[in-house]
Amino acid sequence: MSIQVISFYRFQTFDPDRVQELTVEIAKLRGDFNIRGLFILGAEGVNCTFSIAPDQADQAKAKFRNWFGDVTFKDSFCAKHPFDDLKVKVRDEIVTAHRPHLRPTNQPHRHISPTEWQQKMNDPDVVVIDTRNRYEYDIGHFQGALNPDTREFGSFPQWLSKSGLPKDKKILIYCTGGIRCEKAILEMEEQGYRDVYQLDGGILNYLSERQKQNFTNNFEGECFVFDYRVAVDDKLAPTQTYKLCPHCGQPAQEKIDCIQCGSNAIVCATCLDESDRHTCSKNCAHHFRMGHRSRRQPTAKTGNSGHVSVDSK
Ligand SMILES: [Zn+2]
Ligand SMILES: [Zn+2]
Repeated sequence: MSIQVISFYRFQTFDPDRVQELTVEIAKLRGDFNIRGLFILGAEGVNCTFSIAPDQADQAKAKFRNWFGDVTFKDSFCAKHPFDDLKVKVRDEIVTAHRPHLRPTNQPHRHISPTEWQQKMNDPDVVVIDTRNRYEYDIGHFQGALNPDTREFGSFPQWLSKSGLPKDKKILIYCTGGIRCEKAILEMEEQGYRDVYQLDGGILNYLSERQKQNFTNNFEGECFVFDYRVAVDDKLAPTQTYKLCPHCGQPAQEKIDCIQCGSNAIVCATCLDESDRHTCSKNCAHHFRMGHRSRRQPTAKTGNSGHVSVDSK
């Protein structure tokens, strides 16, 4: 495994000038370290996942600590860069909840460590909620977790208000790397929930600590990630099970022959319901819809160019 994948976030108030400076500084890292990945910056902080050669990782981390303070890094490894390039984007919200007034601070708010999480999960009265999207839940989740069945994180507040969960219930929430829960917990408190805890560092931190401490794994399946690895297994290694659906960017494992060009492809179960998506790529789907005559020349390309973003890590 020759590439290290690192993610972190930090809620911290930046003025617009500082956001501009940081945008320039981060873009320079492509030359300094050959970093690739996606950084989302804004007035409320930074959210990112990047990849780098392992022998340069500590140097890069020192730089980020210098800029952003004592952040928690989540590490995993893979054979090659899971991003094409380095991108820095400026957004109003560094994780999109459509609730800009919810502003987490850089002080940990009701975080629990993976070890505490493991203990609390044993309490039969506790409710565990997965704050991620349905396609993420579908390929892996904590045993017994509630699935809000949302298409995007912005729908979580609405789901919660209709959930009927008692306000005094002890609730544990989790997401991939922790950032969604920072906002979800504020939303829950605003809606009157008083006894909520969030898993520090999310599933990625849990799986990493589990390997060190060797406790029983309560996370079943694989963890979706927002880059070309698609998902990581319980040892944080890139999935051997899923590809990225070329049409919708969600985890896919249905093998097909492209009805346009004849090549082998893998698409997701949802897209199989639409005939133009029995194709290897958006390009072939387009030509199929236009009624272009099939060339039927098999190629080795299986189309792994779906939409990837780390917007809601
Ligand atoms: Zn799909
Ligand atoms: Zn095709």
